[in-house]
Amino acid sequence: MKKSIYSLTKEELGDEIKPSFRAKQIFGWLYDKNVESFEEMKNIPKALKIQLVEKYDLSPLQIAKVETSRDGSSKYLFRLFDGLTVEAVLLPMKKAEYHEDGTLLHHPKYTICISSQVGCKIGCAFCLTAKEGFKRDLTADEIIQQVLIIKKENSIPTNRKTNLVYMGMGEPLDNINNVVNAIKIFADPDGLAISPRRQTISTSGLSNQIKKLGEMNLGVLLAISLHAVDDNLREKLMPINKAYNIKSIIDAVKNFPIDQRKRIMFEYLVMGNLNDDLKSAKKLVSLLHGIKAKVNLIYFNPYLNSPFQRPKPENMQKFQRYLQNHGLICTIRESKGLDISAACGQLREKTN
Ligand code: SAH
Ligand code: SF4
Repeated sequence: MKKSIYSLTKEELGDEIKPSFRAKQIFGWLYDKNVESFEEMKNIPKALKIQLVEKYDLSPLQIAKVETSRDGSSKYLFRLFDGLTVEAVLLPMKKAEYHEDGTLLHHPKYTICISSQVGCKIGCAFCLTAKEGFKRDLTADEIIQQVLIIKKENSIPTNRKTNLVYMGMGEPLDNINNVVNAIKIFADPDGLAISPRRQTISTSGLSNQIKKLGEMNLGVLLAISLHAVDDNLREKLMPINKAYNIKSIIDAVKNFPIDQRKRIMFEYLVMGNLNDDLKSAKKLVSLLHGIKAKVNLIYFNPYLNSPFQRPKPENMQKFQRYLQNHGLICTIRESKGLDISAACGQLREKTN
C-alpha cells in the first residue's frame, strides 16, 4: 500500500523528494489549496508529479455520517480505509461580529474536536468509546484529514485560525508518535498553520507520556481528565489510575512547560451523588495548589444503560462557586450537541 502524503512533515517530504524545496510548494497545494489530485499542482514539474503519484496516496477519509445539533455543532463520522470508523466534531464557539458601520470585527470562531485512536485501551467506566475496546492507532494523516475535511465541508478558509482539541475517541498519549507528527504538520506555516498553542492534548493521565511530551517542548496545551480527587474513586472510574496515580499526574504536570499566558486545564466530569460534593471540591483546591490551573466542570452525559447520573445544576454551581471562591478559574461545560448524542463515542454507537 502507498503511504499517505498527509502523514509527512514538510521536512520528511523534503528528504524523500528531489529537489527538496518542492516540499514547500506541495504543502501549499495540499493544505492551502486543498487539491484532490497531484495533477492539480500546477507549478510542480510533470516528472515529479509522476513520482508523487507512484509513491503517495492522496485519497481522503470518507464521510459516513453527519449530524448537526440545534446548538450548531456538527458531528462527523469518518470511515477509514479498512472500514473502521472514528468521529470528529465541529464546535462553533463565537459567531462573526461586526462594527456598527458593517465592517467585520472578527470572523466566527471554531474548535474542532478530533480522534486519535479507533477505540481506546484505557477503559474508563463512564466512557462509551471504552466499551468497544481498542482497535488501532490512527496514523498522522488520518488525524490531519479530520480537520482538512471538516474545514472544507464548512467552507472555513484553510488559513483561518481554528482551535483543535484531541478529545474525540482514543487516548492521544497512547499514540504519541503519530499525534506529535500531526501536531507538527498542523503547525507548519506552509500548511494549516495551526500553532501548537491552539492545540490541546487531553489525557487520562499517562504520567510518563506527559513527561515525554513536556520534554519535546512543542508548546501544546495540556488538559488532564482528572474526574476524581482520591485514588480509590479514580481507580474505579479509570483503571489507568492503578498504574499512574493522582500524585504522579500532579508531579508530571508541575514539570510540564507552558506558555506564561496559558494554563493547564483540569477536566472534572461531574456525576450525581458520586463526586459532586463540596468535600471533593475542597480536596481539588488543595491538589491544584501551586499549579496555574483552570478547571472545567463537565456534566456527565448519560447514554443508554449508563451507570452514572447527570448532576443537579445547583450542585454544579455550588461546586463551581467553591472553586472560584478559593482562587481557581472554573467554567462549567455543558456537553455541546446534547440532542445529537455528543459525548465521545455516542454517534458511532448509534450507527453501528
Ligand atoms: N482519552 C482522552 C481524550 C478523549 S476523552 C481523555 O480521556 O482525556 C475526552 C473527554 O470526554 C474526557 O475528559 C472524558 O472524560 C470525557 N467523557 C467521556 N465520556 C463522557 C460522558 N459520558 N459524558 C461527558 N464527558 C465524557
Ligand atoms: Fe479512553 Fe478518554 Fe474514554 Fe477514558 S475517557 S476510555 S481515556 S477515550
